[in-house]
Amino acid sequence: MNSLAELIFPSRCVGCSQLGISICSLCRKSWHPHIYFREISVLNNSYPVISAVQYSPIASKVLLGAKESNLSAADNLLADAIGHALTFFIKNYGAGDLVGIPSRSAATRKRGRNFMIEISKSIAAAQSIQSLDILQHTRTVRDQSQLDAQARTHNIAGAFCVSLNSSKSATLGNTQPLIIVDDLITTGATLAEAIRALTTAGYAVIGAVTGSVAKPLR
Ligand SMILES: [Zn+2]
Repeated sequence: MNSLAELIFPSRCVGCSQLGISICSLCRKSWHPHIYFREISVLNNSYPVISAVQYSPIASKVLLGAKESNLSAADNLLADAIGHALTFFIKNYGAGDLVGIPSRSAATRKRGRNFMIEISKSIAAAQSIQSLDILQHTRTVRDQSQLDAQARTHNIAGAFCVSLNSSKSATLGNTQPLIIVDDLITTGATLAEAIRALTTAGYAVIGAVTGSVAKPLR
């Protein structure tokens, strides 16, 4: 879904708005996929989280460009980064089906799409695997971006459940192990809650991949 603006105006760098190409060579230095490893613990198990790009002011613009502005150039940069992390993940921890982290419903309405679900589907299609849209919010949660670590954990605890409404192929026993997909890991609270909801429902989760990784908050 390209915005009309992109058809009318020439493209600009997603990172710095310089005219010309979707990301300029300077900003590309801050959005160059590597491999970053974190581990999160949920219910006495630990799970690997592989990320591609360290969070920075440029990375923040790429994520916001995809999330809030539906910029296809930003979508592509994020999908590439997650794809890079996923390739490494599969090589080291095994293959699986993807589960995207759903946005809050207010955000989905405002943006006209469920951003991470859509990107997770496009990544899965490129790798010939499935992306399952089976996580759902059990209640309203606040936007995490302005919350500290403790408030995030409290905000998101128990906030996800599994719903098979939109994905008949995702019934238990019918799925591969699951790999969770999100744009960014900061404290890991969201990924931990997703793992809790999925494993409690009986699914096998082997870890997560994210486009970007931020230093954990205090
Ligand atoms: Zn730039």
